[in-house]
Amino acid sequence: MSTSSTEPATLVCHACRFSAPAGDEWDTIEVTGVGTMTRCPECGSTRVEHKR
Ligand SMILES: [Zn+2]
Repeated sequence: MSTSSTEPATLVCHACRFSAPAGDEWDTIEVTGVGTMTRCPECGSTRVEHKR
């Protein structure tokens, strides 16, 4: 549709509602069989979802 593909995605933690643009504020961990996951820096949850 429009040219919005270059905008940084916003991520939201399901556990504590922490919200920040994807990037340095978020931790990343490697999980066997899954790959790299984003982890909340506030509570350590990996239940993080893209917001739009
Ligand atoms: Zn959190």
